[in-house]
Amino acid sequence: MATMGSLIGLVNRIQRACTVLGDHGGGGGGSLWEALPSVAVVGGQSSGKSSVLESIVGRDFLPRGSGIVTRRPLVLQLHKTEGGQEYAEFLHAPRKRFTDFAAVRKEIADETDRITGKTKAISNVPIQLSIYSPHVVNLTLIDLPGLTKVAVEGQAESIVQDIENMVRAYVDKPNCIILAISPANQDIATSDAIKLARDVDPSGDRTFGVLTKLDLMDKGTNAVDVLEGRQYRLQHPWVGIVNRSQADINKNVDMLAARRKEKDYFESSPDYGHLAHKMGAEYLAKLLSEHLEAVIRAKIPSIIAMINKTIDEIEAELDRLGRPIGGDAGAQLYTILDMCRAFDRVFKEHLDGGRPGGDRIYGVFDHQLPAALKKLPFDKHLSMQNVRKVISEADGYQPHLIAPEQGYRRLIDSSLSYFKGPAEATVDAELKRFPTLQSDIAAAANDSLERFREDGRKTVLRLVDMEASYLTVEFFRKLPTEPEKAADKNTPKKQLSAMLDEDPALMGKRDALVKRLELYKSARNEIDSVAWK
Ligand code: GDP
Ligand code: MG
Repeated sequence: MATMGSLIGLVNRIQRACTVLGDHGGGGGGSLWEALPSVAVVGGQSSGKSSVLESIVGRDFLPRGSGIVTRRPLVLQLHKTEGGQEYAEFLHAPRKRFTDFAAVRKEIADETDRITGKTKAISNVPIQLSIYSPHVVNLTLIDLPGLTKVAVEGQAESIVQDIENMVRAYVDKPNCIILAISPANQDIATSDAIKLARDVDPSGDRTFGVLTKLDLMDKGTNAVDVLEGRQYRLQHPWVGIVNRSQADINKNVDMLAARRKEKDYFESSPDYGHLAHKMGAEYLAKLLSEHLEAVIRAKIPSIIAMINKTIDEIEAELDRLGRPIGGDAGAQLYTILDMCRAFDRVFKEHLDGGRPGGDRIYGVFDHQLPAALKKLPFDKHLSMQNVRKVISEADGYQPHLIAPEQGYRRLIDSSLSYFKGPAEATVDAELKRFPTLQSDIAAAANDSLERFREDGRKTVLRLVDMEASYLTVEFFRKLPTEPEKAADKNTPKKQLSAMLDEDPALMGKRDALVKRLELYKSARNEIDSVAWK
């Protein structure tokens, strides 16, 4: 059996890694995050949500004030450390360690405004905060904007629904544990938290009822019926809480003093004395942590199955996109030569007639050339009239300008481009991942073709002179050895990388997939190693 809370610690780390990859809960996204349980704090405005969170952490670090203060989800991860200094860290400022919790509060407020502006608008982009402390239990808690019934001055009318939608996006998920906060000085039948919880979790399996403000109840009344589950039944016991009052906060009563005060309150209460050991924020934290640990343990088989499925999907997607290329010169050179060999192979297939290219070349030289030659309009071209016209249109007298050469040249050009087309198209399919390499090979091949075209032109003219027949396949077979040379001669690494640059969007997509794959694989290893201890 793993030590208490170690599974949660592990899940915390995995969830944190998910968030780094933009794979967080709430606004959709990663399935791994969603497969892992977390605790969302829900309740009406000023019901005491933020106070409960602070009390669980034992630190004073959340922005407060009148009206709607929590305007973005706050994903709060508590990591229990073996000792050492207590500190906080934001995902959006990963290298900065906060040891001053007043500065944490300011950063949450500033970061809220960074997305929503200084308006009263809300945003579903979560703020991610980790607290490392020997005094906390391993736990992930999500603070959400309070449910409200009316928009206040300066807020859009839609805010009531927007907040509910945002909160629902979290609590709808079957892996979300709902910490439903209701103030004891209000009728439980009117509680927003219970109303929502009943809606998404009718059996009460994943809802923890929390009753705050017990100290503010009318004299002569108590909440024993609620706390003992007689008013609203849940599968888990209700927990009563006494947070700091606004007056306490104004007087800077610290969290330790507040916890002591809460303990005293229950122990000395004639109404709740018999429940004292199951009340208060410290007890709530332990209850949640134990429950979360048990839930995670029970879900391990399905989490592993989900991870394996996702790994298979990512692997398949990577096969489709092409695997990442090694960063070292050797691997890069290997890749380039591999591409060149593919080019070479395809090219030869064309020439050998295995693909349409070779047959075409024979066709061109066996049939089209003779046919074209026969059709050459020597009679018209060499008519007195035309010779006069050509000579007068040419700027100056060119001794080699004879009409049939144009015909030959066009014929040769079109033959060669016939031959370039299919080879390029086939090679395109292999090379389109690497536009630079593609253009380099194409350029090298075209260079060669240009050179051979010139040779070809001379040869053909000579052959025509000799009334001979056609170019052989062996002649063209020399072509494909050319592009290999381009990458062969100790090309410096920078040049190799430059050849292998890909479409940045594709590269980004592949990088993201590779990172996700790593995350899922290491998550699987870690879960495997903790789960069977
Ligand atoms: P939130 O809007 O749900 O996050 O509520 P807050 O935690 O900000 O609390 C709203 C106000 O209620 C603050 O002034 C708190 O001091 C006060 N408050 C919260 N819980 C209690 C409690 O248990 N007892 C008393 N007396 N005041 C409380
Ligand atoms: Mg709040």
